[in-house]
Parts: sequence; structure tokens; C-alpha cells
Amino acid sequence: MQIIKSNKTQFEYDIQALLKSFYPEWEPRMLAPDSEVRDRRILEGEPVMELYFGEDEVTLEIFCGAAHLDHTEGLHNMEGAAEEVGKDSRHVYAWRPKEPTGTPEYKNAFKRFFYRSLCEETQTSLPWGNLTGIRPTKIAMTMMEQGKSEEETADYLKTMHLVSGEKTALALDIAKREQEILSTLHYENGYSLYVGIPFCPTTCLYCSFTSYPIGAWKKRVGEYLTALEKEIDAAAKLLRDKILDTVYIGGGTPTSLSAEELARLLGKLKSAFDFSHVQEFTVEAGRADSITEDKLRVLLENGVTRISVNPQTMKQETLDLIGRRHTVEQVEEAFHLARRIGFDNINMDIILGLPGETAADVAHTIEAVKALSPDALTVHSLAVKRASKLGKWIEENGATAYNNTEEIMEIAARGAAAMDMVPYYLYRQKNMSGNFENVGYSRRDKYGIYNILINEEKQTIVALGAGSITKGVFSDNRIERCENVKDVGQYIGRIDEMIGRKRQLLEG
Ligand code: SF4
Repeated sequence: MQIIKSNKTQFEYDIQALLKSFYPEWEPRMLAPDSEVRDRRILEGEPVMELYFGEDEVTLEIFCGAAHLDHTEGLHNMEGAAEEVGKDSRHVYAWRPKEPTGTPEYKNAFKRFFYRSLCEETQTSLPWGNLTGIRPTKIAMTMMEQGKSEEETADYLKTMHLVSGEKTALALDIAKREQEILSTLHYENGYSLYVGIPFCPTTCLYCSFTSYPIGAWKKRVGEYLTALEKEIDAAAKLLRDKILDTVYIGGGTPTSLSAEELARLLGKLKSAFDFSHVQEFTVEAGRADSITEDKLRVLLENGVTRISVNPQTMKQETLDLIGRRHTVEQVEEAFHLARRIGFDNINMDIILGLPGETAADVAHTIEAVKALSPDALTVHSLAVKRASKLGKWIEENGATAYNNTEEIMEIAARGAAAMDMVPYYLYRQKNMSGNFENVGYSRRDKYGIYNILINEEKQTIVALGAGSITKGVFSDNRIERCENVKDVGQYIGRIDEMIGRKRQLLEG
């Protein structure tokens, strides 16, 4: 537990997010200034920070602790800072704001000050600068929609948020591509549909999604589908005057269901909703150990246009470690099977920074994926969620056991380019290894439109099933969410309440 004391509670989210970005192993806690814990913590060698918002000056003092007493001392000038302070075991950073307090400009300038202080303290910088949100491309896209030029947008990202030149160029490139791809959608009267199947063959080490092992839940799948069908009927009625643009079945692993259960679900969706305008119908087949020929045939016969077969890595040792319980060969077989049956849009997901993986391992994964020649590649940078088994694994094995680097990101980007793919969507998560991003690459005619929609919040996405979150995007730019409960038993038992929440959101 690391401590930051502050005389004001403002900007707590940004402060904690930036601290986690610079010090991934920390669990920073904010305390009131009169807290007694400081001296004890310093003696124990733990860093303590004190942030003081004064009338004319904001100071950040970092007490390095007994273990760090040999650090450079003194005051570091930040954006117009002041005089030298006496030598002791602390570092002091100061900022004299020119912006009026309480304004967005003040907040942004504070974030720059805090970010620069941490850069100085750690002698590093972050690829996305002080941006802590998950949608950096949304900033670029919004500015361009407002008529700002590429130069103005790039300048804003670089100077206001201290984003690196390389990431600025990536954000702009993706924003332009997204605008072009979305131009064919029914913005005004359209919507997309998400259906969650919260079952998987086993639970992966890093998983933080709603996922239940199918083996233990087999007997309740029928009940789950019955509840889901009730929600499907209700949603179809609520949305009967709207145009359905894209459909995405995710989870979990939808192909954990049997072929018969999949046929039941898809048949229900097709009969309840009007699919005549649907531009894309995705099912995440995901885990190779859930894919069979009869299931793939059911998907194809019901008009599914796009699937994912996700290896995450092509190194068997890592697959075993992260609990995927399938082999590299199974991934290859599942992929070939899907191609042979007739799927011409197959995405593969990989994760960079997996425990123990080196740049050479990632290069090997990329080569193995290239040999399969998928249509799209989604590159995730490992995000460590405390709730996952990986969070506990890292506690036991240390934060250095997983690592993503610029070099590894570059290997993946070069691999995608060699497969004739371009980046078309991007998002970030909390606690990402190396503070990088997740990037969707695709061949130019195989983009996953749903991925852009969910990321850029351009259209209402109605989400059905346990743990799903419906996001209403309204014409006055309001975005409102409503959640379904995660627990499958609760979802089944409280399905009428889930429907009621949706009705309230969509009918207003
Ligand atoms: S396949 Fe995905 S949803 Fe299922 S356990 Fe693994 S990470 Fe979680």
C-alpha cells in the first residue's frame, strides 16, 4: 500500500491512475493531510507523497523512504516553479498555476504537472502521456468531427496531454479510418446488439470477465437460455422501429454451448429481430477447445459473417500457465476447420506481456499466426485486474514476471503489416502492462464494425445476458448505461427486473 496525502480530494481518479501507470505494482491510497502514518511508512522504506494545493502554488513532495535515501534532493522546477529547498530525503516538485481553479484548463494543467513530476521522479515517460481514459482515439475523432485539422488535433494531443509523436500518429490514423468505416451506418435510427454467453471451458488466469466453467453449469444452461430468450423478445419489441446494424455474440465463450443450444439461440435471435439490414454478425468462438465442426456449421447456416479463434499465444508453455487448457495444434486445427467450412472473416486475438514471455516468444507467435493468415488480428497488452487469478499470481511471483515493451509492440505491429492489415480501432485499459494499448488490425475489407462502435460510443448498443451493459447513445449526445447482474443464478431469477431496467433506459 503506498500513501498519498492531499489537502484536497480533487482529481483523485487521475492521480491514482497516473500513479498506477508509473508504478504498476502500487496500490496507492489517498489520505487526509493530518494522517499519522507518514513517518512510519518512510521508516519502513515505503514511498509517501504529499500533495498540497496552495493559493498560488501546488507542491508535490515525495518522501523516498529509508531504502531510497541516496536519491537526488531538492526542488524541481515545473511550469514556472519556484526556489530551491533545503537538502533532505525528499524530492519536491512545484507548480504555479496560471489557470483559474475549478476550470477544465486548471485540471489539465494539474495533470501535466503531476505527470511531469512523475517522469522526473522515475526518469521515464509514458507513451500516452497523461491520458488516463480508455479511448484516446475518441478525442482525435471528436476534434476532427468538429472541423479541426489533423495538425491541430495532433498538436492538442502532444501539448495538452504530452502524448508521444508515435502514439499521436497512430490515434490520428485510426480516427480517420474509423470515420470512413462508420459512414455506411444508420447513425440516426440504428443500433447494435450484444448477446453475452457467460460460460467457458475453463477460467483463464488473467480473466476478469463474467465467465463460469461450462462443466459445472451444464444443467443450468437451458434455464439461462430461457431467461435470455425472454430478454430477447422484450428487447426486440422495444427496438422494433429501429434498424439493426451489427450483432455480436461474446462472453465468455459462446461456443461453450452445444451445437443444439447454439442453434436454439441463433434461431431465436433471427426470428425476434429484423436481420435484413445487418452488416456484420460476429460470434466469438474464442477458445479452440470449444470449437467443433457441427457448431461452426450452425453459425454459418444462421448467417454469422465473422468469428474469432483466439490463441492469445502460440507458446504451449504459456498456454498451460494461463489455464487455457488447449494446445497450439488445437488452435491451428480449429482455424483450418473454420476456413474449410467457409468462414472468410476470421479474427485472432493475442496478448502481449504474458507471464514469462520474451520478445522472441512473441515473434514466434506472430510467425505462427501469419502461417494461418487470418483476416484480422487483435493485439492486447496484458491488463492485470486485481479480481483475476493473475493478480494473485503476480503477488506471488512479482511484477517483473510479466512485461510488455516497445520492442514487443513493434513486433506485433510489423507482423500485422506483413499480413496486409492496418490498425482500425484502439482502446486502453487500467493497469496495462507497459502502459500501451490494445489495437485491432484488419485487412481493409474485413474490419469489425462493432468493435469501433463500442469503442467510440457512436451508437446505442443493446446488451443482453448476464453481466452485459447496455449503452444508450442519444441524439442530444447523452450516453447512459444500464447493467445486467453478473451472477447467472441472479440473472435467471431477476430477468423481469433486467428487462425493466432496459425499458426504462430505452423508453426514457
Ligand atoms: S476465454 Fe475469455 S472469458 Fe473465458 S475464461 Fe478465458 S479470458 Fe475469460
